[in-house]
Amino acid sequence: MSIYDGLKDAAGVLKEAGKIPEYRQILEALEKMLDLQKKNTELEKEVTDLKEKLRIKNVLVIKNHAYWYKETGEGPFCTRCWDSESKPIHMHPNGNPSFYSCPNCKSGSVKAKPELDDDRPRVMDMRDSCQ
Ligand SMILES: [Zn+2]
Repeated sequence: MSIYDGLKDAAGVLKEAGKIPEYRQILEALEKMLDLQKKNTELEKEVTDLKEKLRIKNVLVIKNHAYWYKETGEGPFCTRCWDSESKPIHMHPNGNPSFYSCPNCKSGSVKAKPELDDDRPRVMDMRDSCQ
């Protein structure tokens, strides 16, 4: 039997016996216990989230305006989403193979992979636009 069930049974016995002030004390204790359980659950989640953020923070490195996993080189991840919301959001290629942008916050593109820069001059075929 849980503490909650035990207190609830005790409250029922007190109510049957006409001991209303004691019955109300038990109900107040039950209410406080439920509030504390709820707070405890919230704090446990917060601790878990903070541990995960710390774990990720210790394995990320910033390079070329993006985050990358230190050991695997996986990336790029959006710095804005990580810094503001602690969300490791994969950035997506954006036209030129060296540029990436965030699908979550759409904060613009960064030259995350300068080694892939496609800086060849674009030749525009005038026949396509002037007919
Ligand atoms: Zn973002």
